[in-house]
Amino acid sequence: MKLLFAEDDAMIGESAREGLRQSGFVVDWVQDGRAADLALETGQYSLLLLDLGLPHKDGLSILRELRQSQSELPVIIITARDAVADRVAALNMGADDYLIKPCDLDEMVARIHAVLRRHAGRGNPELTVGGLMLNPLTRKVAMNGKPVMLSPKEFSLLAVLMHTPGKVISRRELEEKIYGWNEEVASNAIEVHLHNLRRKLGAEVISNVRGVGYKVT
Ligand code: CA
Repeated sequence: MKLLFAEDDAMIGESAREGLRQSGFVVDWVQDGRAADLALETGQYSLLLLDLGLPHKDGLSILRELRQSQSELPVIIITARDAVADRVAALNMGADDYLIKPCDLDEMVARIHAVLRRHAGRGNPELTVGGLMLNPLTRKVAMNGKPVMLSPKEFSLLAVLMHTPGKVISRRELEEKIYGWNEEVASNAIEVHLHNLRRKLGAEVISNVRGVGYKVT
């Protein structure tokens, strides 16, 4: 899952980005409001972590415009302890949840997963399609009850496909969803990961709709 993280404080940004990466998220980090807008226009994100006090354009304005444009992107705002009025305003404006600084990483990860589940209309953390099970929290995958070891990118790719079983997703979109800005991507990277997933899970698990994309069924 790829997140956009808008936070101008370099220390908080740096440590949270690292922690989120270690928890398996792909993270694009921006440090001002205009950069956040630009990233939102061009990137494919599953969730926005939004600090309210940002240079150039504040978080509330970003959130307001997102919701005015009918975007359903899940948003978790990040505020100072004493900023109750801001939190209330943001929640009423369509934020999904909030975190209070200084943020505890485990709590941040748990809230991200909770918001993503709610957004997808699921209560159970585990994703299942047929005999295949993927747990985004424990990062475990099993096929017919038997554990399967995946690389981090294979895991991310499978998670993206399993979030919308039956939906065909283009190679371009898959690439956009599992790679961040600073990652080098070989032109055949997605095909290689898909090949490995099929080898580990069985060829029938992921199907290719020629010229359109891939799906899990
Ligand atoms: Ca700030």
